[in-house]
Amino acid sequence: MSKSKLSILVADNSRPSFELIKTTLISDENMKYEIDAAASSKDALEKASGNNIDLVLVNQKRSGTDGIKMLQDIIKKKLGVPVIMIVAEGEEKLGVKAMDKGAYDFLTKDEVKTVALGRAIRRVMQRRKLESDIKESLNKLEKLAIKDGLTGLYNQHHFKEVISREYKKAKRYMQSLSCIMLDLDHFKLVNDTHGHQFGDEVLIQAAEILNRLVRDTDFVARYGGEEFFIVLPNTNLKGAHILAERIRSAFADHIFKKEGISEKVTVSVGVSARSDENVVSENELIANADKSLYRAKWRGRNNVCTYEESEIEATPGLREEVKKIENFDDKLKDLNDNIKDNCIESAHDILREIEKGWDYINEHSIRVSRYAEQLTKALMLSDDEIKIVRRAALLHDIGMVGVSSKILKKKTKLSGDEYEVVKKHSNIGVKIIKKTNLFDNELPLILYHHERYDGNGYPHQLKGDTIPYGARILSVVEAYDAMMNNTIYRKAYSSKEAVAELRECSGSQFDPKVVDAFIKVINKSN
Ligand code: GH3
Ligand code: MG
Ligand code: MG
Repeated sequence: MSKSKLSILVADNSRPSFELIKTTLISDENMKYEIDAAASSKDALEKASGNNIDLVLVNQKRSGTDGIKMLQDIIKKKLGVPVIMIVAEGEEKLGVKAMDKGAYDFLTKDEVKTVALGRAIRRVMQRRKLESDIKESLNKLEKLAIKDGLTGLYNQHHFKEVISREYKKAKRYMQSLSCIMLDLDHFKLVNDTHGHQFGDEVLIQAAEILNRLVRDTDFVARYGGEEFFIVLPNTNLKGAHILAERIRSAFADHIFKKEGISEKVTVSVGVSARSDENVVSENELIANADKSLYRAKWRGRNNVCTYEESEIEATPGLREEVKKIENFDDKLKDLNDNIKDNCIESAHDILREIEKGWDYINEHSIRVSRYAEQLTKALMLSDDEIKIVRRAALLHDIGMVGVSSKILKKKTKLSGDEYEVVKKHSNIGVKIIKKTNLFDNELPLILYHHERYDGNGYPHQLKGDTIPYGARILSVVEAYDAMMNNTIYRKAYSSKEAVAELRECSGSQFDPKVVDAFIKVINKSN
């Protein structure tokens, strides 16, 4: 009602009756009106469809169509314009009927001649304002809410916040991040065949399946009607693909049942990862998952497709070239691995020459790399990740070369100052290794292998999952190896004692999931 004039459309094909209403409105001292007439039903609907009509006065008794029919047309077309019905004296029952059908108010012909008309119009406009305020508040509330009412999953609005936050985190700490987008196949048919209520039940059970299959650190959201998005922090493309396939097969095996109805519903799944070649923000991560999902549908549904696959399939002729590139890529990768291994070996040789005290650190690194390899395999990391953690293990203490021999060889407990010097080894290690330009992926693991899960480690006091996964793995295996060997001022622990100590520090110093997995590895090899 911010306009200074109210636009009233009078749907009445009797000219005298229109003039009467016009006269009454013009003499209203409280409000100014712009008044228009519509003689035919068609004309009235057309004018009411325009954005500038605030209210329609419908004469119930019109020659041609009756007013209630016109009211119903306005409501059916969702024009959102309020209607006041005008009825003849003694026909108030029709007015009540009109209100039942959605009119805001009714007036008799006699009332239309009086101030009652202006009053009724103002009441309706106040009610409209109230309704639109409520609608706006509800919209705001909806935005504040983070969960979807039907499934209890996160809603699209919250999903967008989560993916933006996770993207920044992954970028900052050089961690992997993947997304899965899925859409129920032929869901419209499910609704059409068994009704919306059963459809809703399918959505609820679908959410249960997804919740059951993901990890605690993953985020499952209902993205739209029958579309879901999963954000997978610390997960590379291979890991995401494995989960996507697990989800697809869980749906294919599940029978959705409710009140005697049972139905199978499959899903199509798209997978994207931060490592996809075009990803520079979370937006590409979302778009790539969407594109892959579209491809999975195109392949015939009940299917999983990655962004890379969707790109290859969508570009005719590319398949063969991609094969050649992949072949060349594999060979280069092998060459690269060899160069890195040689570089590490040479570094160890040089250090041995510089520093006689280096030998035990060297042996420690080799043992740690073996544990790391076993543990990363048990944690189902990809081949590339296993290599990265293994190499980081071999290099993790290389920065000790910057610690004076006096401190390294000291036979008694280190003083506070001396310990501060030792703590610099993670930073020094990174400084040395950075120069080779060979170990970009290993660097964060070396830098952060002394961070603690509770945030009390060094050098940056990272906490929980913000510590790179590989660094959390190194931290556990390194501690285990340190405990299992004599030091200058304490004897080696037995494996049982070392495991007990890992358990004791699980959740404070170490990531509990990593500790659990490592204890399983130790028990198996014992
Ligand atoms: P496709 O395999 O191509 O995905 O086919 P489809 O039928 O699943 O796709 P389409 O997008 O045409 O249909 C989605 C249907 O999902 C249409 C809509 O009625 C239904 N839907 C969306 N939200 C809900 C909801 O909350 N409950 C129910 N029961 N159905 C919903
Ligand atoms: Mg669908
Ligand atoms: Mg859909």
